[in-house]
Amino acid sequence: MMLYLSRIHFPVTTLGPGRRIGLWFQGCSIRCKGCVSADTWGTGKGGVSISEIMNVINPWLSEADGITISGGEPFDQPEALIHFLAQVRSKTNKDILVYSGHPFEKIAPLVDQCKGMIDALISDPYEENTPQTLALRGSDNQRLHCLTPLGETLFRSFERPLKPSDKTFDIMFEEEGTIWLAGIPGRDDMRRLKTLLAKEGHVAVTTQDERSKKGRSYDTLHS
Ligand code: SF4
Repeated sequence: MMLYLSRIHFPVTTLGPGRRIGLWFQGCSIRCKGCVSADTWGTGKGGVSISEIMNVINPWLSEADGITISGGEPFDQPEALIHFLAQVRSKTNKDILVYSGHPFEKIAPLVDQCKGMIDALISDPYEENTPQTLALRGSDNQRLHCLTPLGETLFRSFERPLKPSDKTFDIMFEEEGTIWLAGIPGRDDMRRLKTLLAKEGHVAVTTQDERSKKGRSYDTLHS
């Protein structure tokens, strides 16, 4: 089965406890205002078979503390998501955290089909005018659901205010010179980062800048 994927990376340390395998699905129908991942909105690109994805992550599974699935919108590809989760779950008992921008009530039947395969879920869209004071969340309307005993053990403690140590990014350098950040930026982080880089002579372009200028998606930062 084909899954449309934006990125896959290991280790990711900013989206859940420990060193995690991060997967970002491609395609998002929700289109939250202020989304910093607009490069993942477009559908129909990044198609890859789930067996190929498993070949990539298999060598990481023994070393990883858990898996985080984000996007894009994972539940916009429900069959692929369920199939992928089943494949991962057959290989490891490590925790799986999934982000969705859909309200929990909307995806509840699908979450039910994922029973035992998602340990923790963060639901609801990003709201740029809602305060951002909670761990693991871009806006405080987003809800954390601990769906298994393992999820309860590992994630209930994230039902807490943001700490200074939460304010970190994973930085990834790609071969063509693109720099990509993983993590949950604070409200003003991107503007401040662009200002700092500009002082050093770099031009930083966010996905939102590109969408507003050209109406298309683009990678997160270029220097
Ligand atoms: S924040 Fe998430 S759900 Fe909202 S538009 Fe961006 S990728 Fe989609």
